[in-house]
Order: sequence, then C-alpha cells, then structure tokens
Amino acid sequence: MSENNEPGPDEGPTPVLAVVGRPNVGKSTLVNRIIGRREAVVEDRPGVTRDRVSYDATWNGRAFTVVDTGGWDPDARGLAERISAQAEVAVSVADAVLFVVDAGVGITDADAAVVKVLRRSGKPVVLAANKVDDARTEAEAAGLWNLGLGEPQPVSALHGRGSGDLLDAVLRALPATPQESFEELGGPRRVAIVGRPNVGKSSLLNKLVGSDRVVVDDAAGTTVDPIDELVVLREREWRFIDTAGIRRRVREASGQEYYASLRTATAIERAEVAVLVVDGSQPISEQDQRIIATVQEAGRALVIAFNKWDLVDEERRYYLDREIERDLVRVQWAPRINLTARTGWHIDRLVPALDAALGGWETRVGTGALNSFLGRLVAEHPHPVRGGKQPKILFGTQPSTSPPTFVLFTSGKLEASYLRFVERRLREEYGFVGTPVLIQQKPRE
Ligand code: GDP
Ligand code: GDP
Repeated sequence: MSENNEPGPDEGPTPVLAVVGRPNVGKSTLVNRIIGRREAVVEDRPGVTRDRVSYDATWNGRAFTVVDTGGWDPDARGLAERISAQAEVAVSVADAVLFVVDAGVGITDADAAVVKVLRRSGKPVVLAANKVDDARTEAEAAGLWNLGLGEPQPVSALHGRGSGDLLDAVLRALPATPQESFEELGGPRRVAIVGRPNVGKSSLLNKLVGSDRVVVDDAAGTTVDPIDELVVLREREWRFIDTAGIRRRVREASGQEYYASLRTATAIERAEVAVLVVDGSQPISEQDQRIIATVQEAGRALVIAFNKWDLVDEERRYYLDREIERDLVRVQWAPRINLTARTGWHIDRLVPALDAALGGWETRVGTGALNSFLGRLVAEHPHPVRGGKQPKILFGTQPSTSPPTFVLFTSGKLEASYLRFVERRLREEYGFVGTPVLIQQKPRE
C-alpha cells in the first residue's frame, strides 16, 4: 500500500512472540530491529509503565505480534525472581518465546531461572545469543548449547548481523495461526472481555457462563493459561478468550498494571470482537480510552458495556451522557449497552450487540456499488483545491474485511479531513456498526 498511510489490512489474529531476558541483554534493541522501527520501544523511563507492549511485525510475508516484556517490573525481590516472574507472564500469553542472552556474558543465575520457566511451559523457544557483532565473537554463542534450548542463534541486534536467520528461526517456532486455527469458518466467535480492574468483568463472565461452560485448555503440556471458555449463548457457541486473565488476580498482585495491559493487548489480538466493560457509575477514564485505542489499532470489532447500571442515578446519567459525547467520539460507531452484571439485568443485550459489531466488521461492499457511491460523493463534495490542484478519488476497492479496509486510487494526495469525511459517508451508507474502518490512499504518480 502507499507508504504514507496506516499499516496494511490486518487479516485477523496473528501468533504472538514474547521477548524475554535480563536487563541490558539487548531486548529492546532486538524488538526494534524485528519491527523495523527505531523509535518505538527505547524511550521509556525507568519505573514508568509502558502503554504499549505489543507491536506488529512481518517477516517473509508472515505477520506476527511481538510482545516486549521488558517494561514490566514486578516487585519480586531479587533479579532472578523478577525475571522469572516476567518469563511466566510471557509464556502465559505467547505462542512462542524469544529468549535473549548476552553471548559475551554467558549464562547468569537469572538466565538459569528463566530457562526453568521456559522448559516447564513447553512453549517453543528461540534462543538468541545477542551482541555477536562479528565473526570473532561467534564462538561465544556455541557455549549456549548446553542450556538445552536448542541451537543458539548468534545475532547482533545493534548492527543487524544474523537477524535474518534469527527471524527465520522465529517463524519456524511460531504456529501457523495463533493457538489454534481460528480462521476456520463456522468456528465459535472469539470474544475478549476487557476493562479496568473492578469494573465487573468476572461478574459478567460468571453470569454469561452460567452452567453451560466448557473450559478449553489450549495445548497439552503447557502451563494452564491462557484458558478460553466455550459458552453457548442464544444457541450458538462463543469462545471467551483468556478468561484465566480475568479470573486469576491474586498471583499477579505485583506488577499488576503491566500484567493487565499485556493480557488485554494479547486477548484483543486473539479475539474478533472486544467487549469493553466500563463502570457506569464512575467517570470514563484514561485507561478505558487506552483500551479502546488498542482495539482500534488491532482492527477488532468493539462493543462497550456500561456495567453497574444499578448504581447509575439521574445525575450520574446526565454526566455519563456528556462523557460519552466528549470521550467516546472516536468510537461513536461502537454499540453501547447498559447492564448490571451482578443481577443479570440486560445481559441478554450482549449477543445482539456482538452480532451487530461482527456484522459490521465483516461487511463487504462490491466494487461496482462502491464506485457509484464514490462517484456521487465526489460530485457532491469535491476535495478542496490546494495549490491550484484538485486531488480526486479516481477509483476505490475494498480488498478486505475484518476490519473493512478500503483503498482509494487518487490523483494527488487527499487531506486527512477529507479521508475522515469519506469514512463518515461510508458509515452513513453502509453502517459498519461496531468496527474500525481503514481507508488507504494510493496517489497516482
Ligand atoms: P534490554 O534492557 O534488554 O532491553 O537491552 P537494550 O536493548 O536496552 O540494550 C542494552 C545495551 O546493549 C544498549 O546499550 C545497547 O545499545 C546494547 N546492545 C544491544 N544489542 C547489542 C548488540 O547486538 N551488540 C552490542 N555491541 N551492543 C548491543
Ligand atoms: P473485575 O475486576 O472487572 O473482574 O470486576 P469484578 O467482577 O470482580 O467486580 C468488582 C466488584 O464490582 C465486585 O465487588 C462486584 O460484586 C461488583 N460488581 C460487579 N458488577 C456489578 C454490578 O452490576 N453492580 C454493582 N453494584 N456491583 C457490581
């Protein structure tokens, strides 16, 4: 697609690679190299929780998600404890783990602690022997064979040496599709329940699962989570993603915030539709907004559930309406439902909202219909003239759904405000309830 636009269409959930290792072995440098960007990961300040924990990557045409666990600082005591706690988080959310060690330093106690966790998990591991900047230091990597994690991949995150071979090894370790093949038609819909702590996620889940629950443990021999639950609602099966992350909270008491955001990001990645649970009795928060942004960036469908409606009185209702107008403008398209998880009031509204959102997410507009729509739009509302020239939409297609993604072939570059206008009109015409809509432009040279 054109270089000056959003990333290409996301074709659904991608497998997750978690990067773990001691501080200073070069994880951030390596993550930056893998995602092909320089700015992303490095700028954090110590002790500050990163917003962003997962990044899109592609290698040889295969897309995957990189999760950097470096920003998580649990308050476990020693370094080895901290690192192994971090590794536990990583294996619980990832399909494969990239374990980074500093080849020049060799194996430390902290590394050994990670190895234990990785072995126990049974997840595929790629061992990166970093800081092998030249042929001379390559021999140091060989010493890492005795970790029992397979062939060490010598790499220089800093200079890029060996990174192609490392990524090849990563692709071999990642399953073709995350966890299972979710892409199969007719499989249960995948739903992630997300939201801040204490908004009522587990109460909602409990009400939904009732007694119709099947706990799905993904892979034999792995640690117990993530665990999905299959639930029959309205005579159809639904898969609730990573419910272990909702139910278990005691163990993650330390580093909880980071852990929660990591889990949220990966659950969204694995889901088709996210249900953002908001406490209706509390002001809409920054954190709610961040989760919404994560859903949008991942290109997933979204439903917003205002829970604890039993606590919402006239006055609160007044303010909530204003907060919705102010804080949720970006996602005006998301179906909103008010419910009380504690009693089950309005719980039955969830499935219709999910259906609406998934319907919008999968809407496809035929090329003929799209172009007659675009023709009318351009005639009624041409792009403003800029510098004596008038950018124009020549032709459009919708190459993919989930989320709906449009490509506009243009003469001249359309302004962002005009693209927003096109999006608004597309939504008026075709609905696209509950879904982000991506519009890319390809200006003719
Ligand atoms: P992290 O704490 O594991 O995320 O490590 P960083 O990515 O922040 O890197 C720690 C230090 O090691 C930085 O000064 C990097 O520039 C340096 N470093 C990272 N990768 C390499 C490498 O391949 N070779 C060399 N010589 N230095 C590296
Ligand atoms: P989670 O952290 O998002 O999973 O939230 P929980 O489901 O554990 O709920 C947090 C607290 O809110 C608990 O004390 C629940 O009983 C309470 N709660 C959950 N749903 C409702 C509701 O609809 N109304 C009221 N009043 N309280 C609720």
